[in-house]
Amino acid sequence: MLCGVGKRSGEMLDYVSIPTRSPQDTLPEVIAFFRAHPVKRLGVASFGPLDLDPKHATYGCLTNTPKIAWRGVNWYRLLTEGLKIPVTVETDVNAAILAEHAWGSAISVHTALYVTVGTGIGGGAMVAGRPLHGLMHPEMGHIGVHRLPEDVFPGLCPAHEDCLEGMASGPALSQRWDMSPACLPTTHRGWAWEADYLAQALATYIYVLSPQRIVLGGGVMQHIPLFPAIRQRVTELLKGYIKRPELDKMDTYIVPASLAPLTGLYGGLRLAISSESSG
Ligand code: ZN
Repeated sequence: MLCGVGKRSGEMLDYVSIPTRSPQDTLPEVIAFFRAHPVKRLGVASFGPLDLDPKHATYGCLTNTPKIAWRGVNWYRLLTEGLKIPVTVETDVNAAILAEHAWGSAISVHTALYVTVGTGIGGGAMVAGRPLHGLMHPEMGHIGVHRLPEDVFPGLCPAHEDCLEGMASGPALSQRWDMSPACLPTTHRGWAWEADYLAQALATYIYVLSPQRIVLGGGVMQHIPLFPAIRQRVTELLKGYIKRPELDKMDTYIVPASLAPLTGLYGGLRLAISSESSG
């Protein structure tokens, strides 16, 4: 977990990295950091799923996260009571697109996506300048994808097996090819398959949410050749159905996260600043 202190301008003054262990071990360190580095407001950009409805008694609570020890942990209550300051909670990926909008790769647009491809796959959406909330928040990693004909990997999502995350997360790559993505040679067909699965997802998001830009982050996206491969495949999959000049310039439409690897930390800062202006 990254804990940091920043200014309204977006300048990050100080931060630390605290290893995520059990809540009992980790949370006291988080609170101790902010007692030693007092802030006026706190934004929490958290893994999910989360309850983000401020009208609920369980606002700010981790719900059925696969990190079993963290189920039921209530960021909002713990940090409000521990620090006596206003606290805002959001998904890490929703916070990430707000930060990229304020200071990074999505400055000039009002509707955009941030998709992280790492140990899991998640997506955050900013629609008309606001994070997308509804029943809860988007769970973009768990959409269905068309299996490639030669791909016999069963998928590893505990809930859906061969959803996008089950087929294209970092652990899916590792298991399918029996080596970590960092060791997979650039010419390995695994990268073309990865680009295909991710492009299928992005094409779906483009049809559904009509983003003006898509920002990609996470460990797997450190493999830079994925970007041109994904852009080309998205263009092929869209078949010219959506005609917009942005889609003719894919290298400025599907872009890397410019705040990485601190995108989530800046997301927290952005949430704190936004909560100030909204009262
Ligand atoms: Zn799934």
